[in-house]
Amino acid sequence: MPQKIRKEWIQSCEFHPHTNLEVLRQVHQGIEKKVTSGGALPVLLLDLDSTLYEVGPRSGHILKEWVDSKESQNFKSVRDRVSKLKPSEIGYSLLDTFTGMGLSVGDPEVESALHSANHFWAARFFTNDYLDYDHAYPGASDFVKKAYELGAEIIYLTGRDEPGMGKGTRKRLIADGFPFDSERTHLLLKRSFELDDLEHKSKAADYVRDIGSLVASFENEPPNLVALSDLFPESMHVFMDSVYSDRPALPKPGFYRITGFTA
Ligand SMILES: [Mg+2]
Repeated sequence: MPQKIRKEWIQSCEFHPHTNLEVLRQVHQGIEKKVTSGGALPVLLLDLDSTLYEVGPRSGHILKEWVDSKESQNFKSVRDRVSKLKPSEIGYSLLDTFTGMGLSVGDPEVESALHSANHFWAARFFTNDYLDYDHAYPGASDFVKKAYELGAEIIYLTGRDEPGMGKGTRKRLIADGFPFDSERTHLLLKRSFELDDLEHKSKAADYVRDIGSLVASFENEPPNLVALSDLFPESMHVFMDSVYSDRPALPKPGFYRITGFTA
């Protein structure tokens, strides 16, 4: 089967037909089973952006700053529209967000505005300070806490980079009540911004195997989920259906899907 993008990928995967709570319960049961059997330690692998954390508010705040900045002053009509941006209109990328707001990106003025906004956004989105605007998804920390209490090793595996986002990431994990900064918790950031996310995540496989046995991974990016499922075919792989890029991925059967950490 050829690689597919976004909705087409979702439609081509044959996800297990479980509800959010059924999937989450099954992960907890998988951890319990491994603890009871006394074999390798159970490991839970968790992506951060758009998996445990809603990052739309981060982008929304940056766009608000762009609207108020001199950078946007030449794009009055776009600026007026973006100033009325609703949280539900914020997409994966600014291109998605502009399109979702009904702005025609074929229009030269809109295109220039998008270029300006993207430049402004990229200088801020991947930095410690702006992590303050993220929201942990409701129920996410309770789910991870319970997994931890059941005995799981918790590995946060993220494309965020240590120099730009390490400090803010640690601060938020603690502030949001995720198990962190104690035994059995791990944070795998990229050493530098330039490293490729997918490569970074694939390389984490050795780290996971050194620690124990993977019960489940959680990801919102289809290519990352597919890569992890290729590396750990025996584990559960949970697609967080929030927002995702338009990078193509191979549809596969057997994935789990959640839309959040509550019913
Ligand atoms: Mg993500």
